Amino acid sequence: MNPARLSNKVGLVTGAASGIGRATAGLMATEDAMVIVADIDLPAAESVVEEIAKRGGAAEAMELDVSAESDWQAAIGEVMASHERLDILVNNAGISISKPVADSSFDEWRQVLAVNLDGVFLGCRHAIAAMRNGGSIVNVASVSGIRPPGGGASAYCASKAAVRMFSKALAIECADANNRVRVNVVTPGGVKTPIWEKEEFFQALVEEHGGVEEAFSAMTSDLPSHEFFMPEDVAKSILYLVSDDSLHLSGAEVVLDRGYNS
Ligand code: NAD
Repeated sequence: MNPARLSNKVGLVTGAASGIGRATAGLMATEDAMVIVADIDLPAAESVVEEIAKRGGAAEAMELDVSAESDWQAAIGEVMASHERLDILVNNAGISISKPVADSSFDEWRQVLAVNLDGVFLGCRHAIAAMRNGGSIVNVASVSGIRPPGGGASAYCASKAAVRMFSKALAIECADANNRVRVNVVTPGGVKTPIWEKEEFFQALVEEHGGVEEAFSAMTSDLPSHEFFMPEDVAKSILYLVSDDSLHLSGAEVVLDRGYNS
């Protein structure tokens, strides 16, 4: 049997109570990491920890609003106090509010940027200082940050484009600092997760087609990839980037889109 890929590593995953974050936390735990399941929704994070524990993995739930610097200070402080190390950070938490710019409030714009972009900056800022043995950071962007999927997603697209470039710029900074912190970015196409269900346009599709699965099916033909990916598909790429399998890889972008954006 191959040795586990994340033995003795401590990793924090944001937005880990649902979707891609949940799948990533689960997969990291199966590779023997001690996983901090961080999310703004603490009860949901606790359920994920229970799922992981039932499969024999080690995980702890943590309430964290990624857009609040005080939350990050407390979170990293807690991890260091309990585990004395941080090896992995997956900045995955994200939100989307799809509306034309003319109908969007400044507050909605700032909300999307605060979670999707400020959250990534704050996570990196506080984690790098704690990664005394080096570490691996993976930021989750989106193909919407390469090419807009259509109208009505400007804030989301802008935030994800910024995450891609921020990650590459930070990778160079870490290389220059010789701090052995790697920074890579995963850029998925459409993934079947609850993020869609929070959108007004998706709820209209649910009404029109009579259910969530039906709404996903109705959207599938519009996707460049012609299918929704599963959260576990994305988690596998994240696992590669956080593990020593990618030891010398930094500043890289893994675009999961079947080649549509190549
Ligand atoms: P999801 O809605 O299933 O999960 C997002 C999680 O983030 C939720 O548990 C939510 O509670 C948490 N969250 C929201 N705001 C937060 C905050 N301020 N602080 C901490 N946690 C917060 O969504 P998902 O699809 O799994 O999305 C995960 C990431 O993947 C996001 O960054 C998203 O933009 C990106 N992404 C998703 C898709 C897709 O099609 N689902 C495609 C490309 C990229």
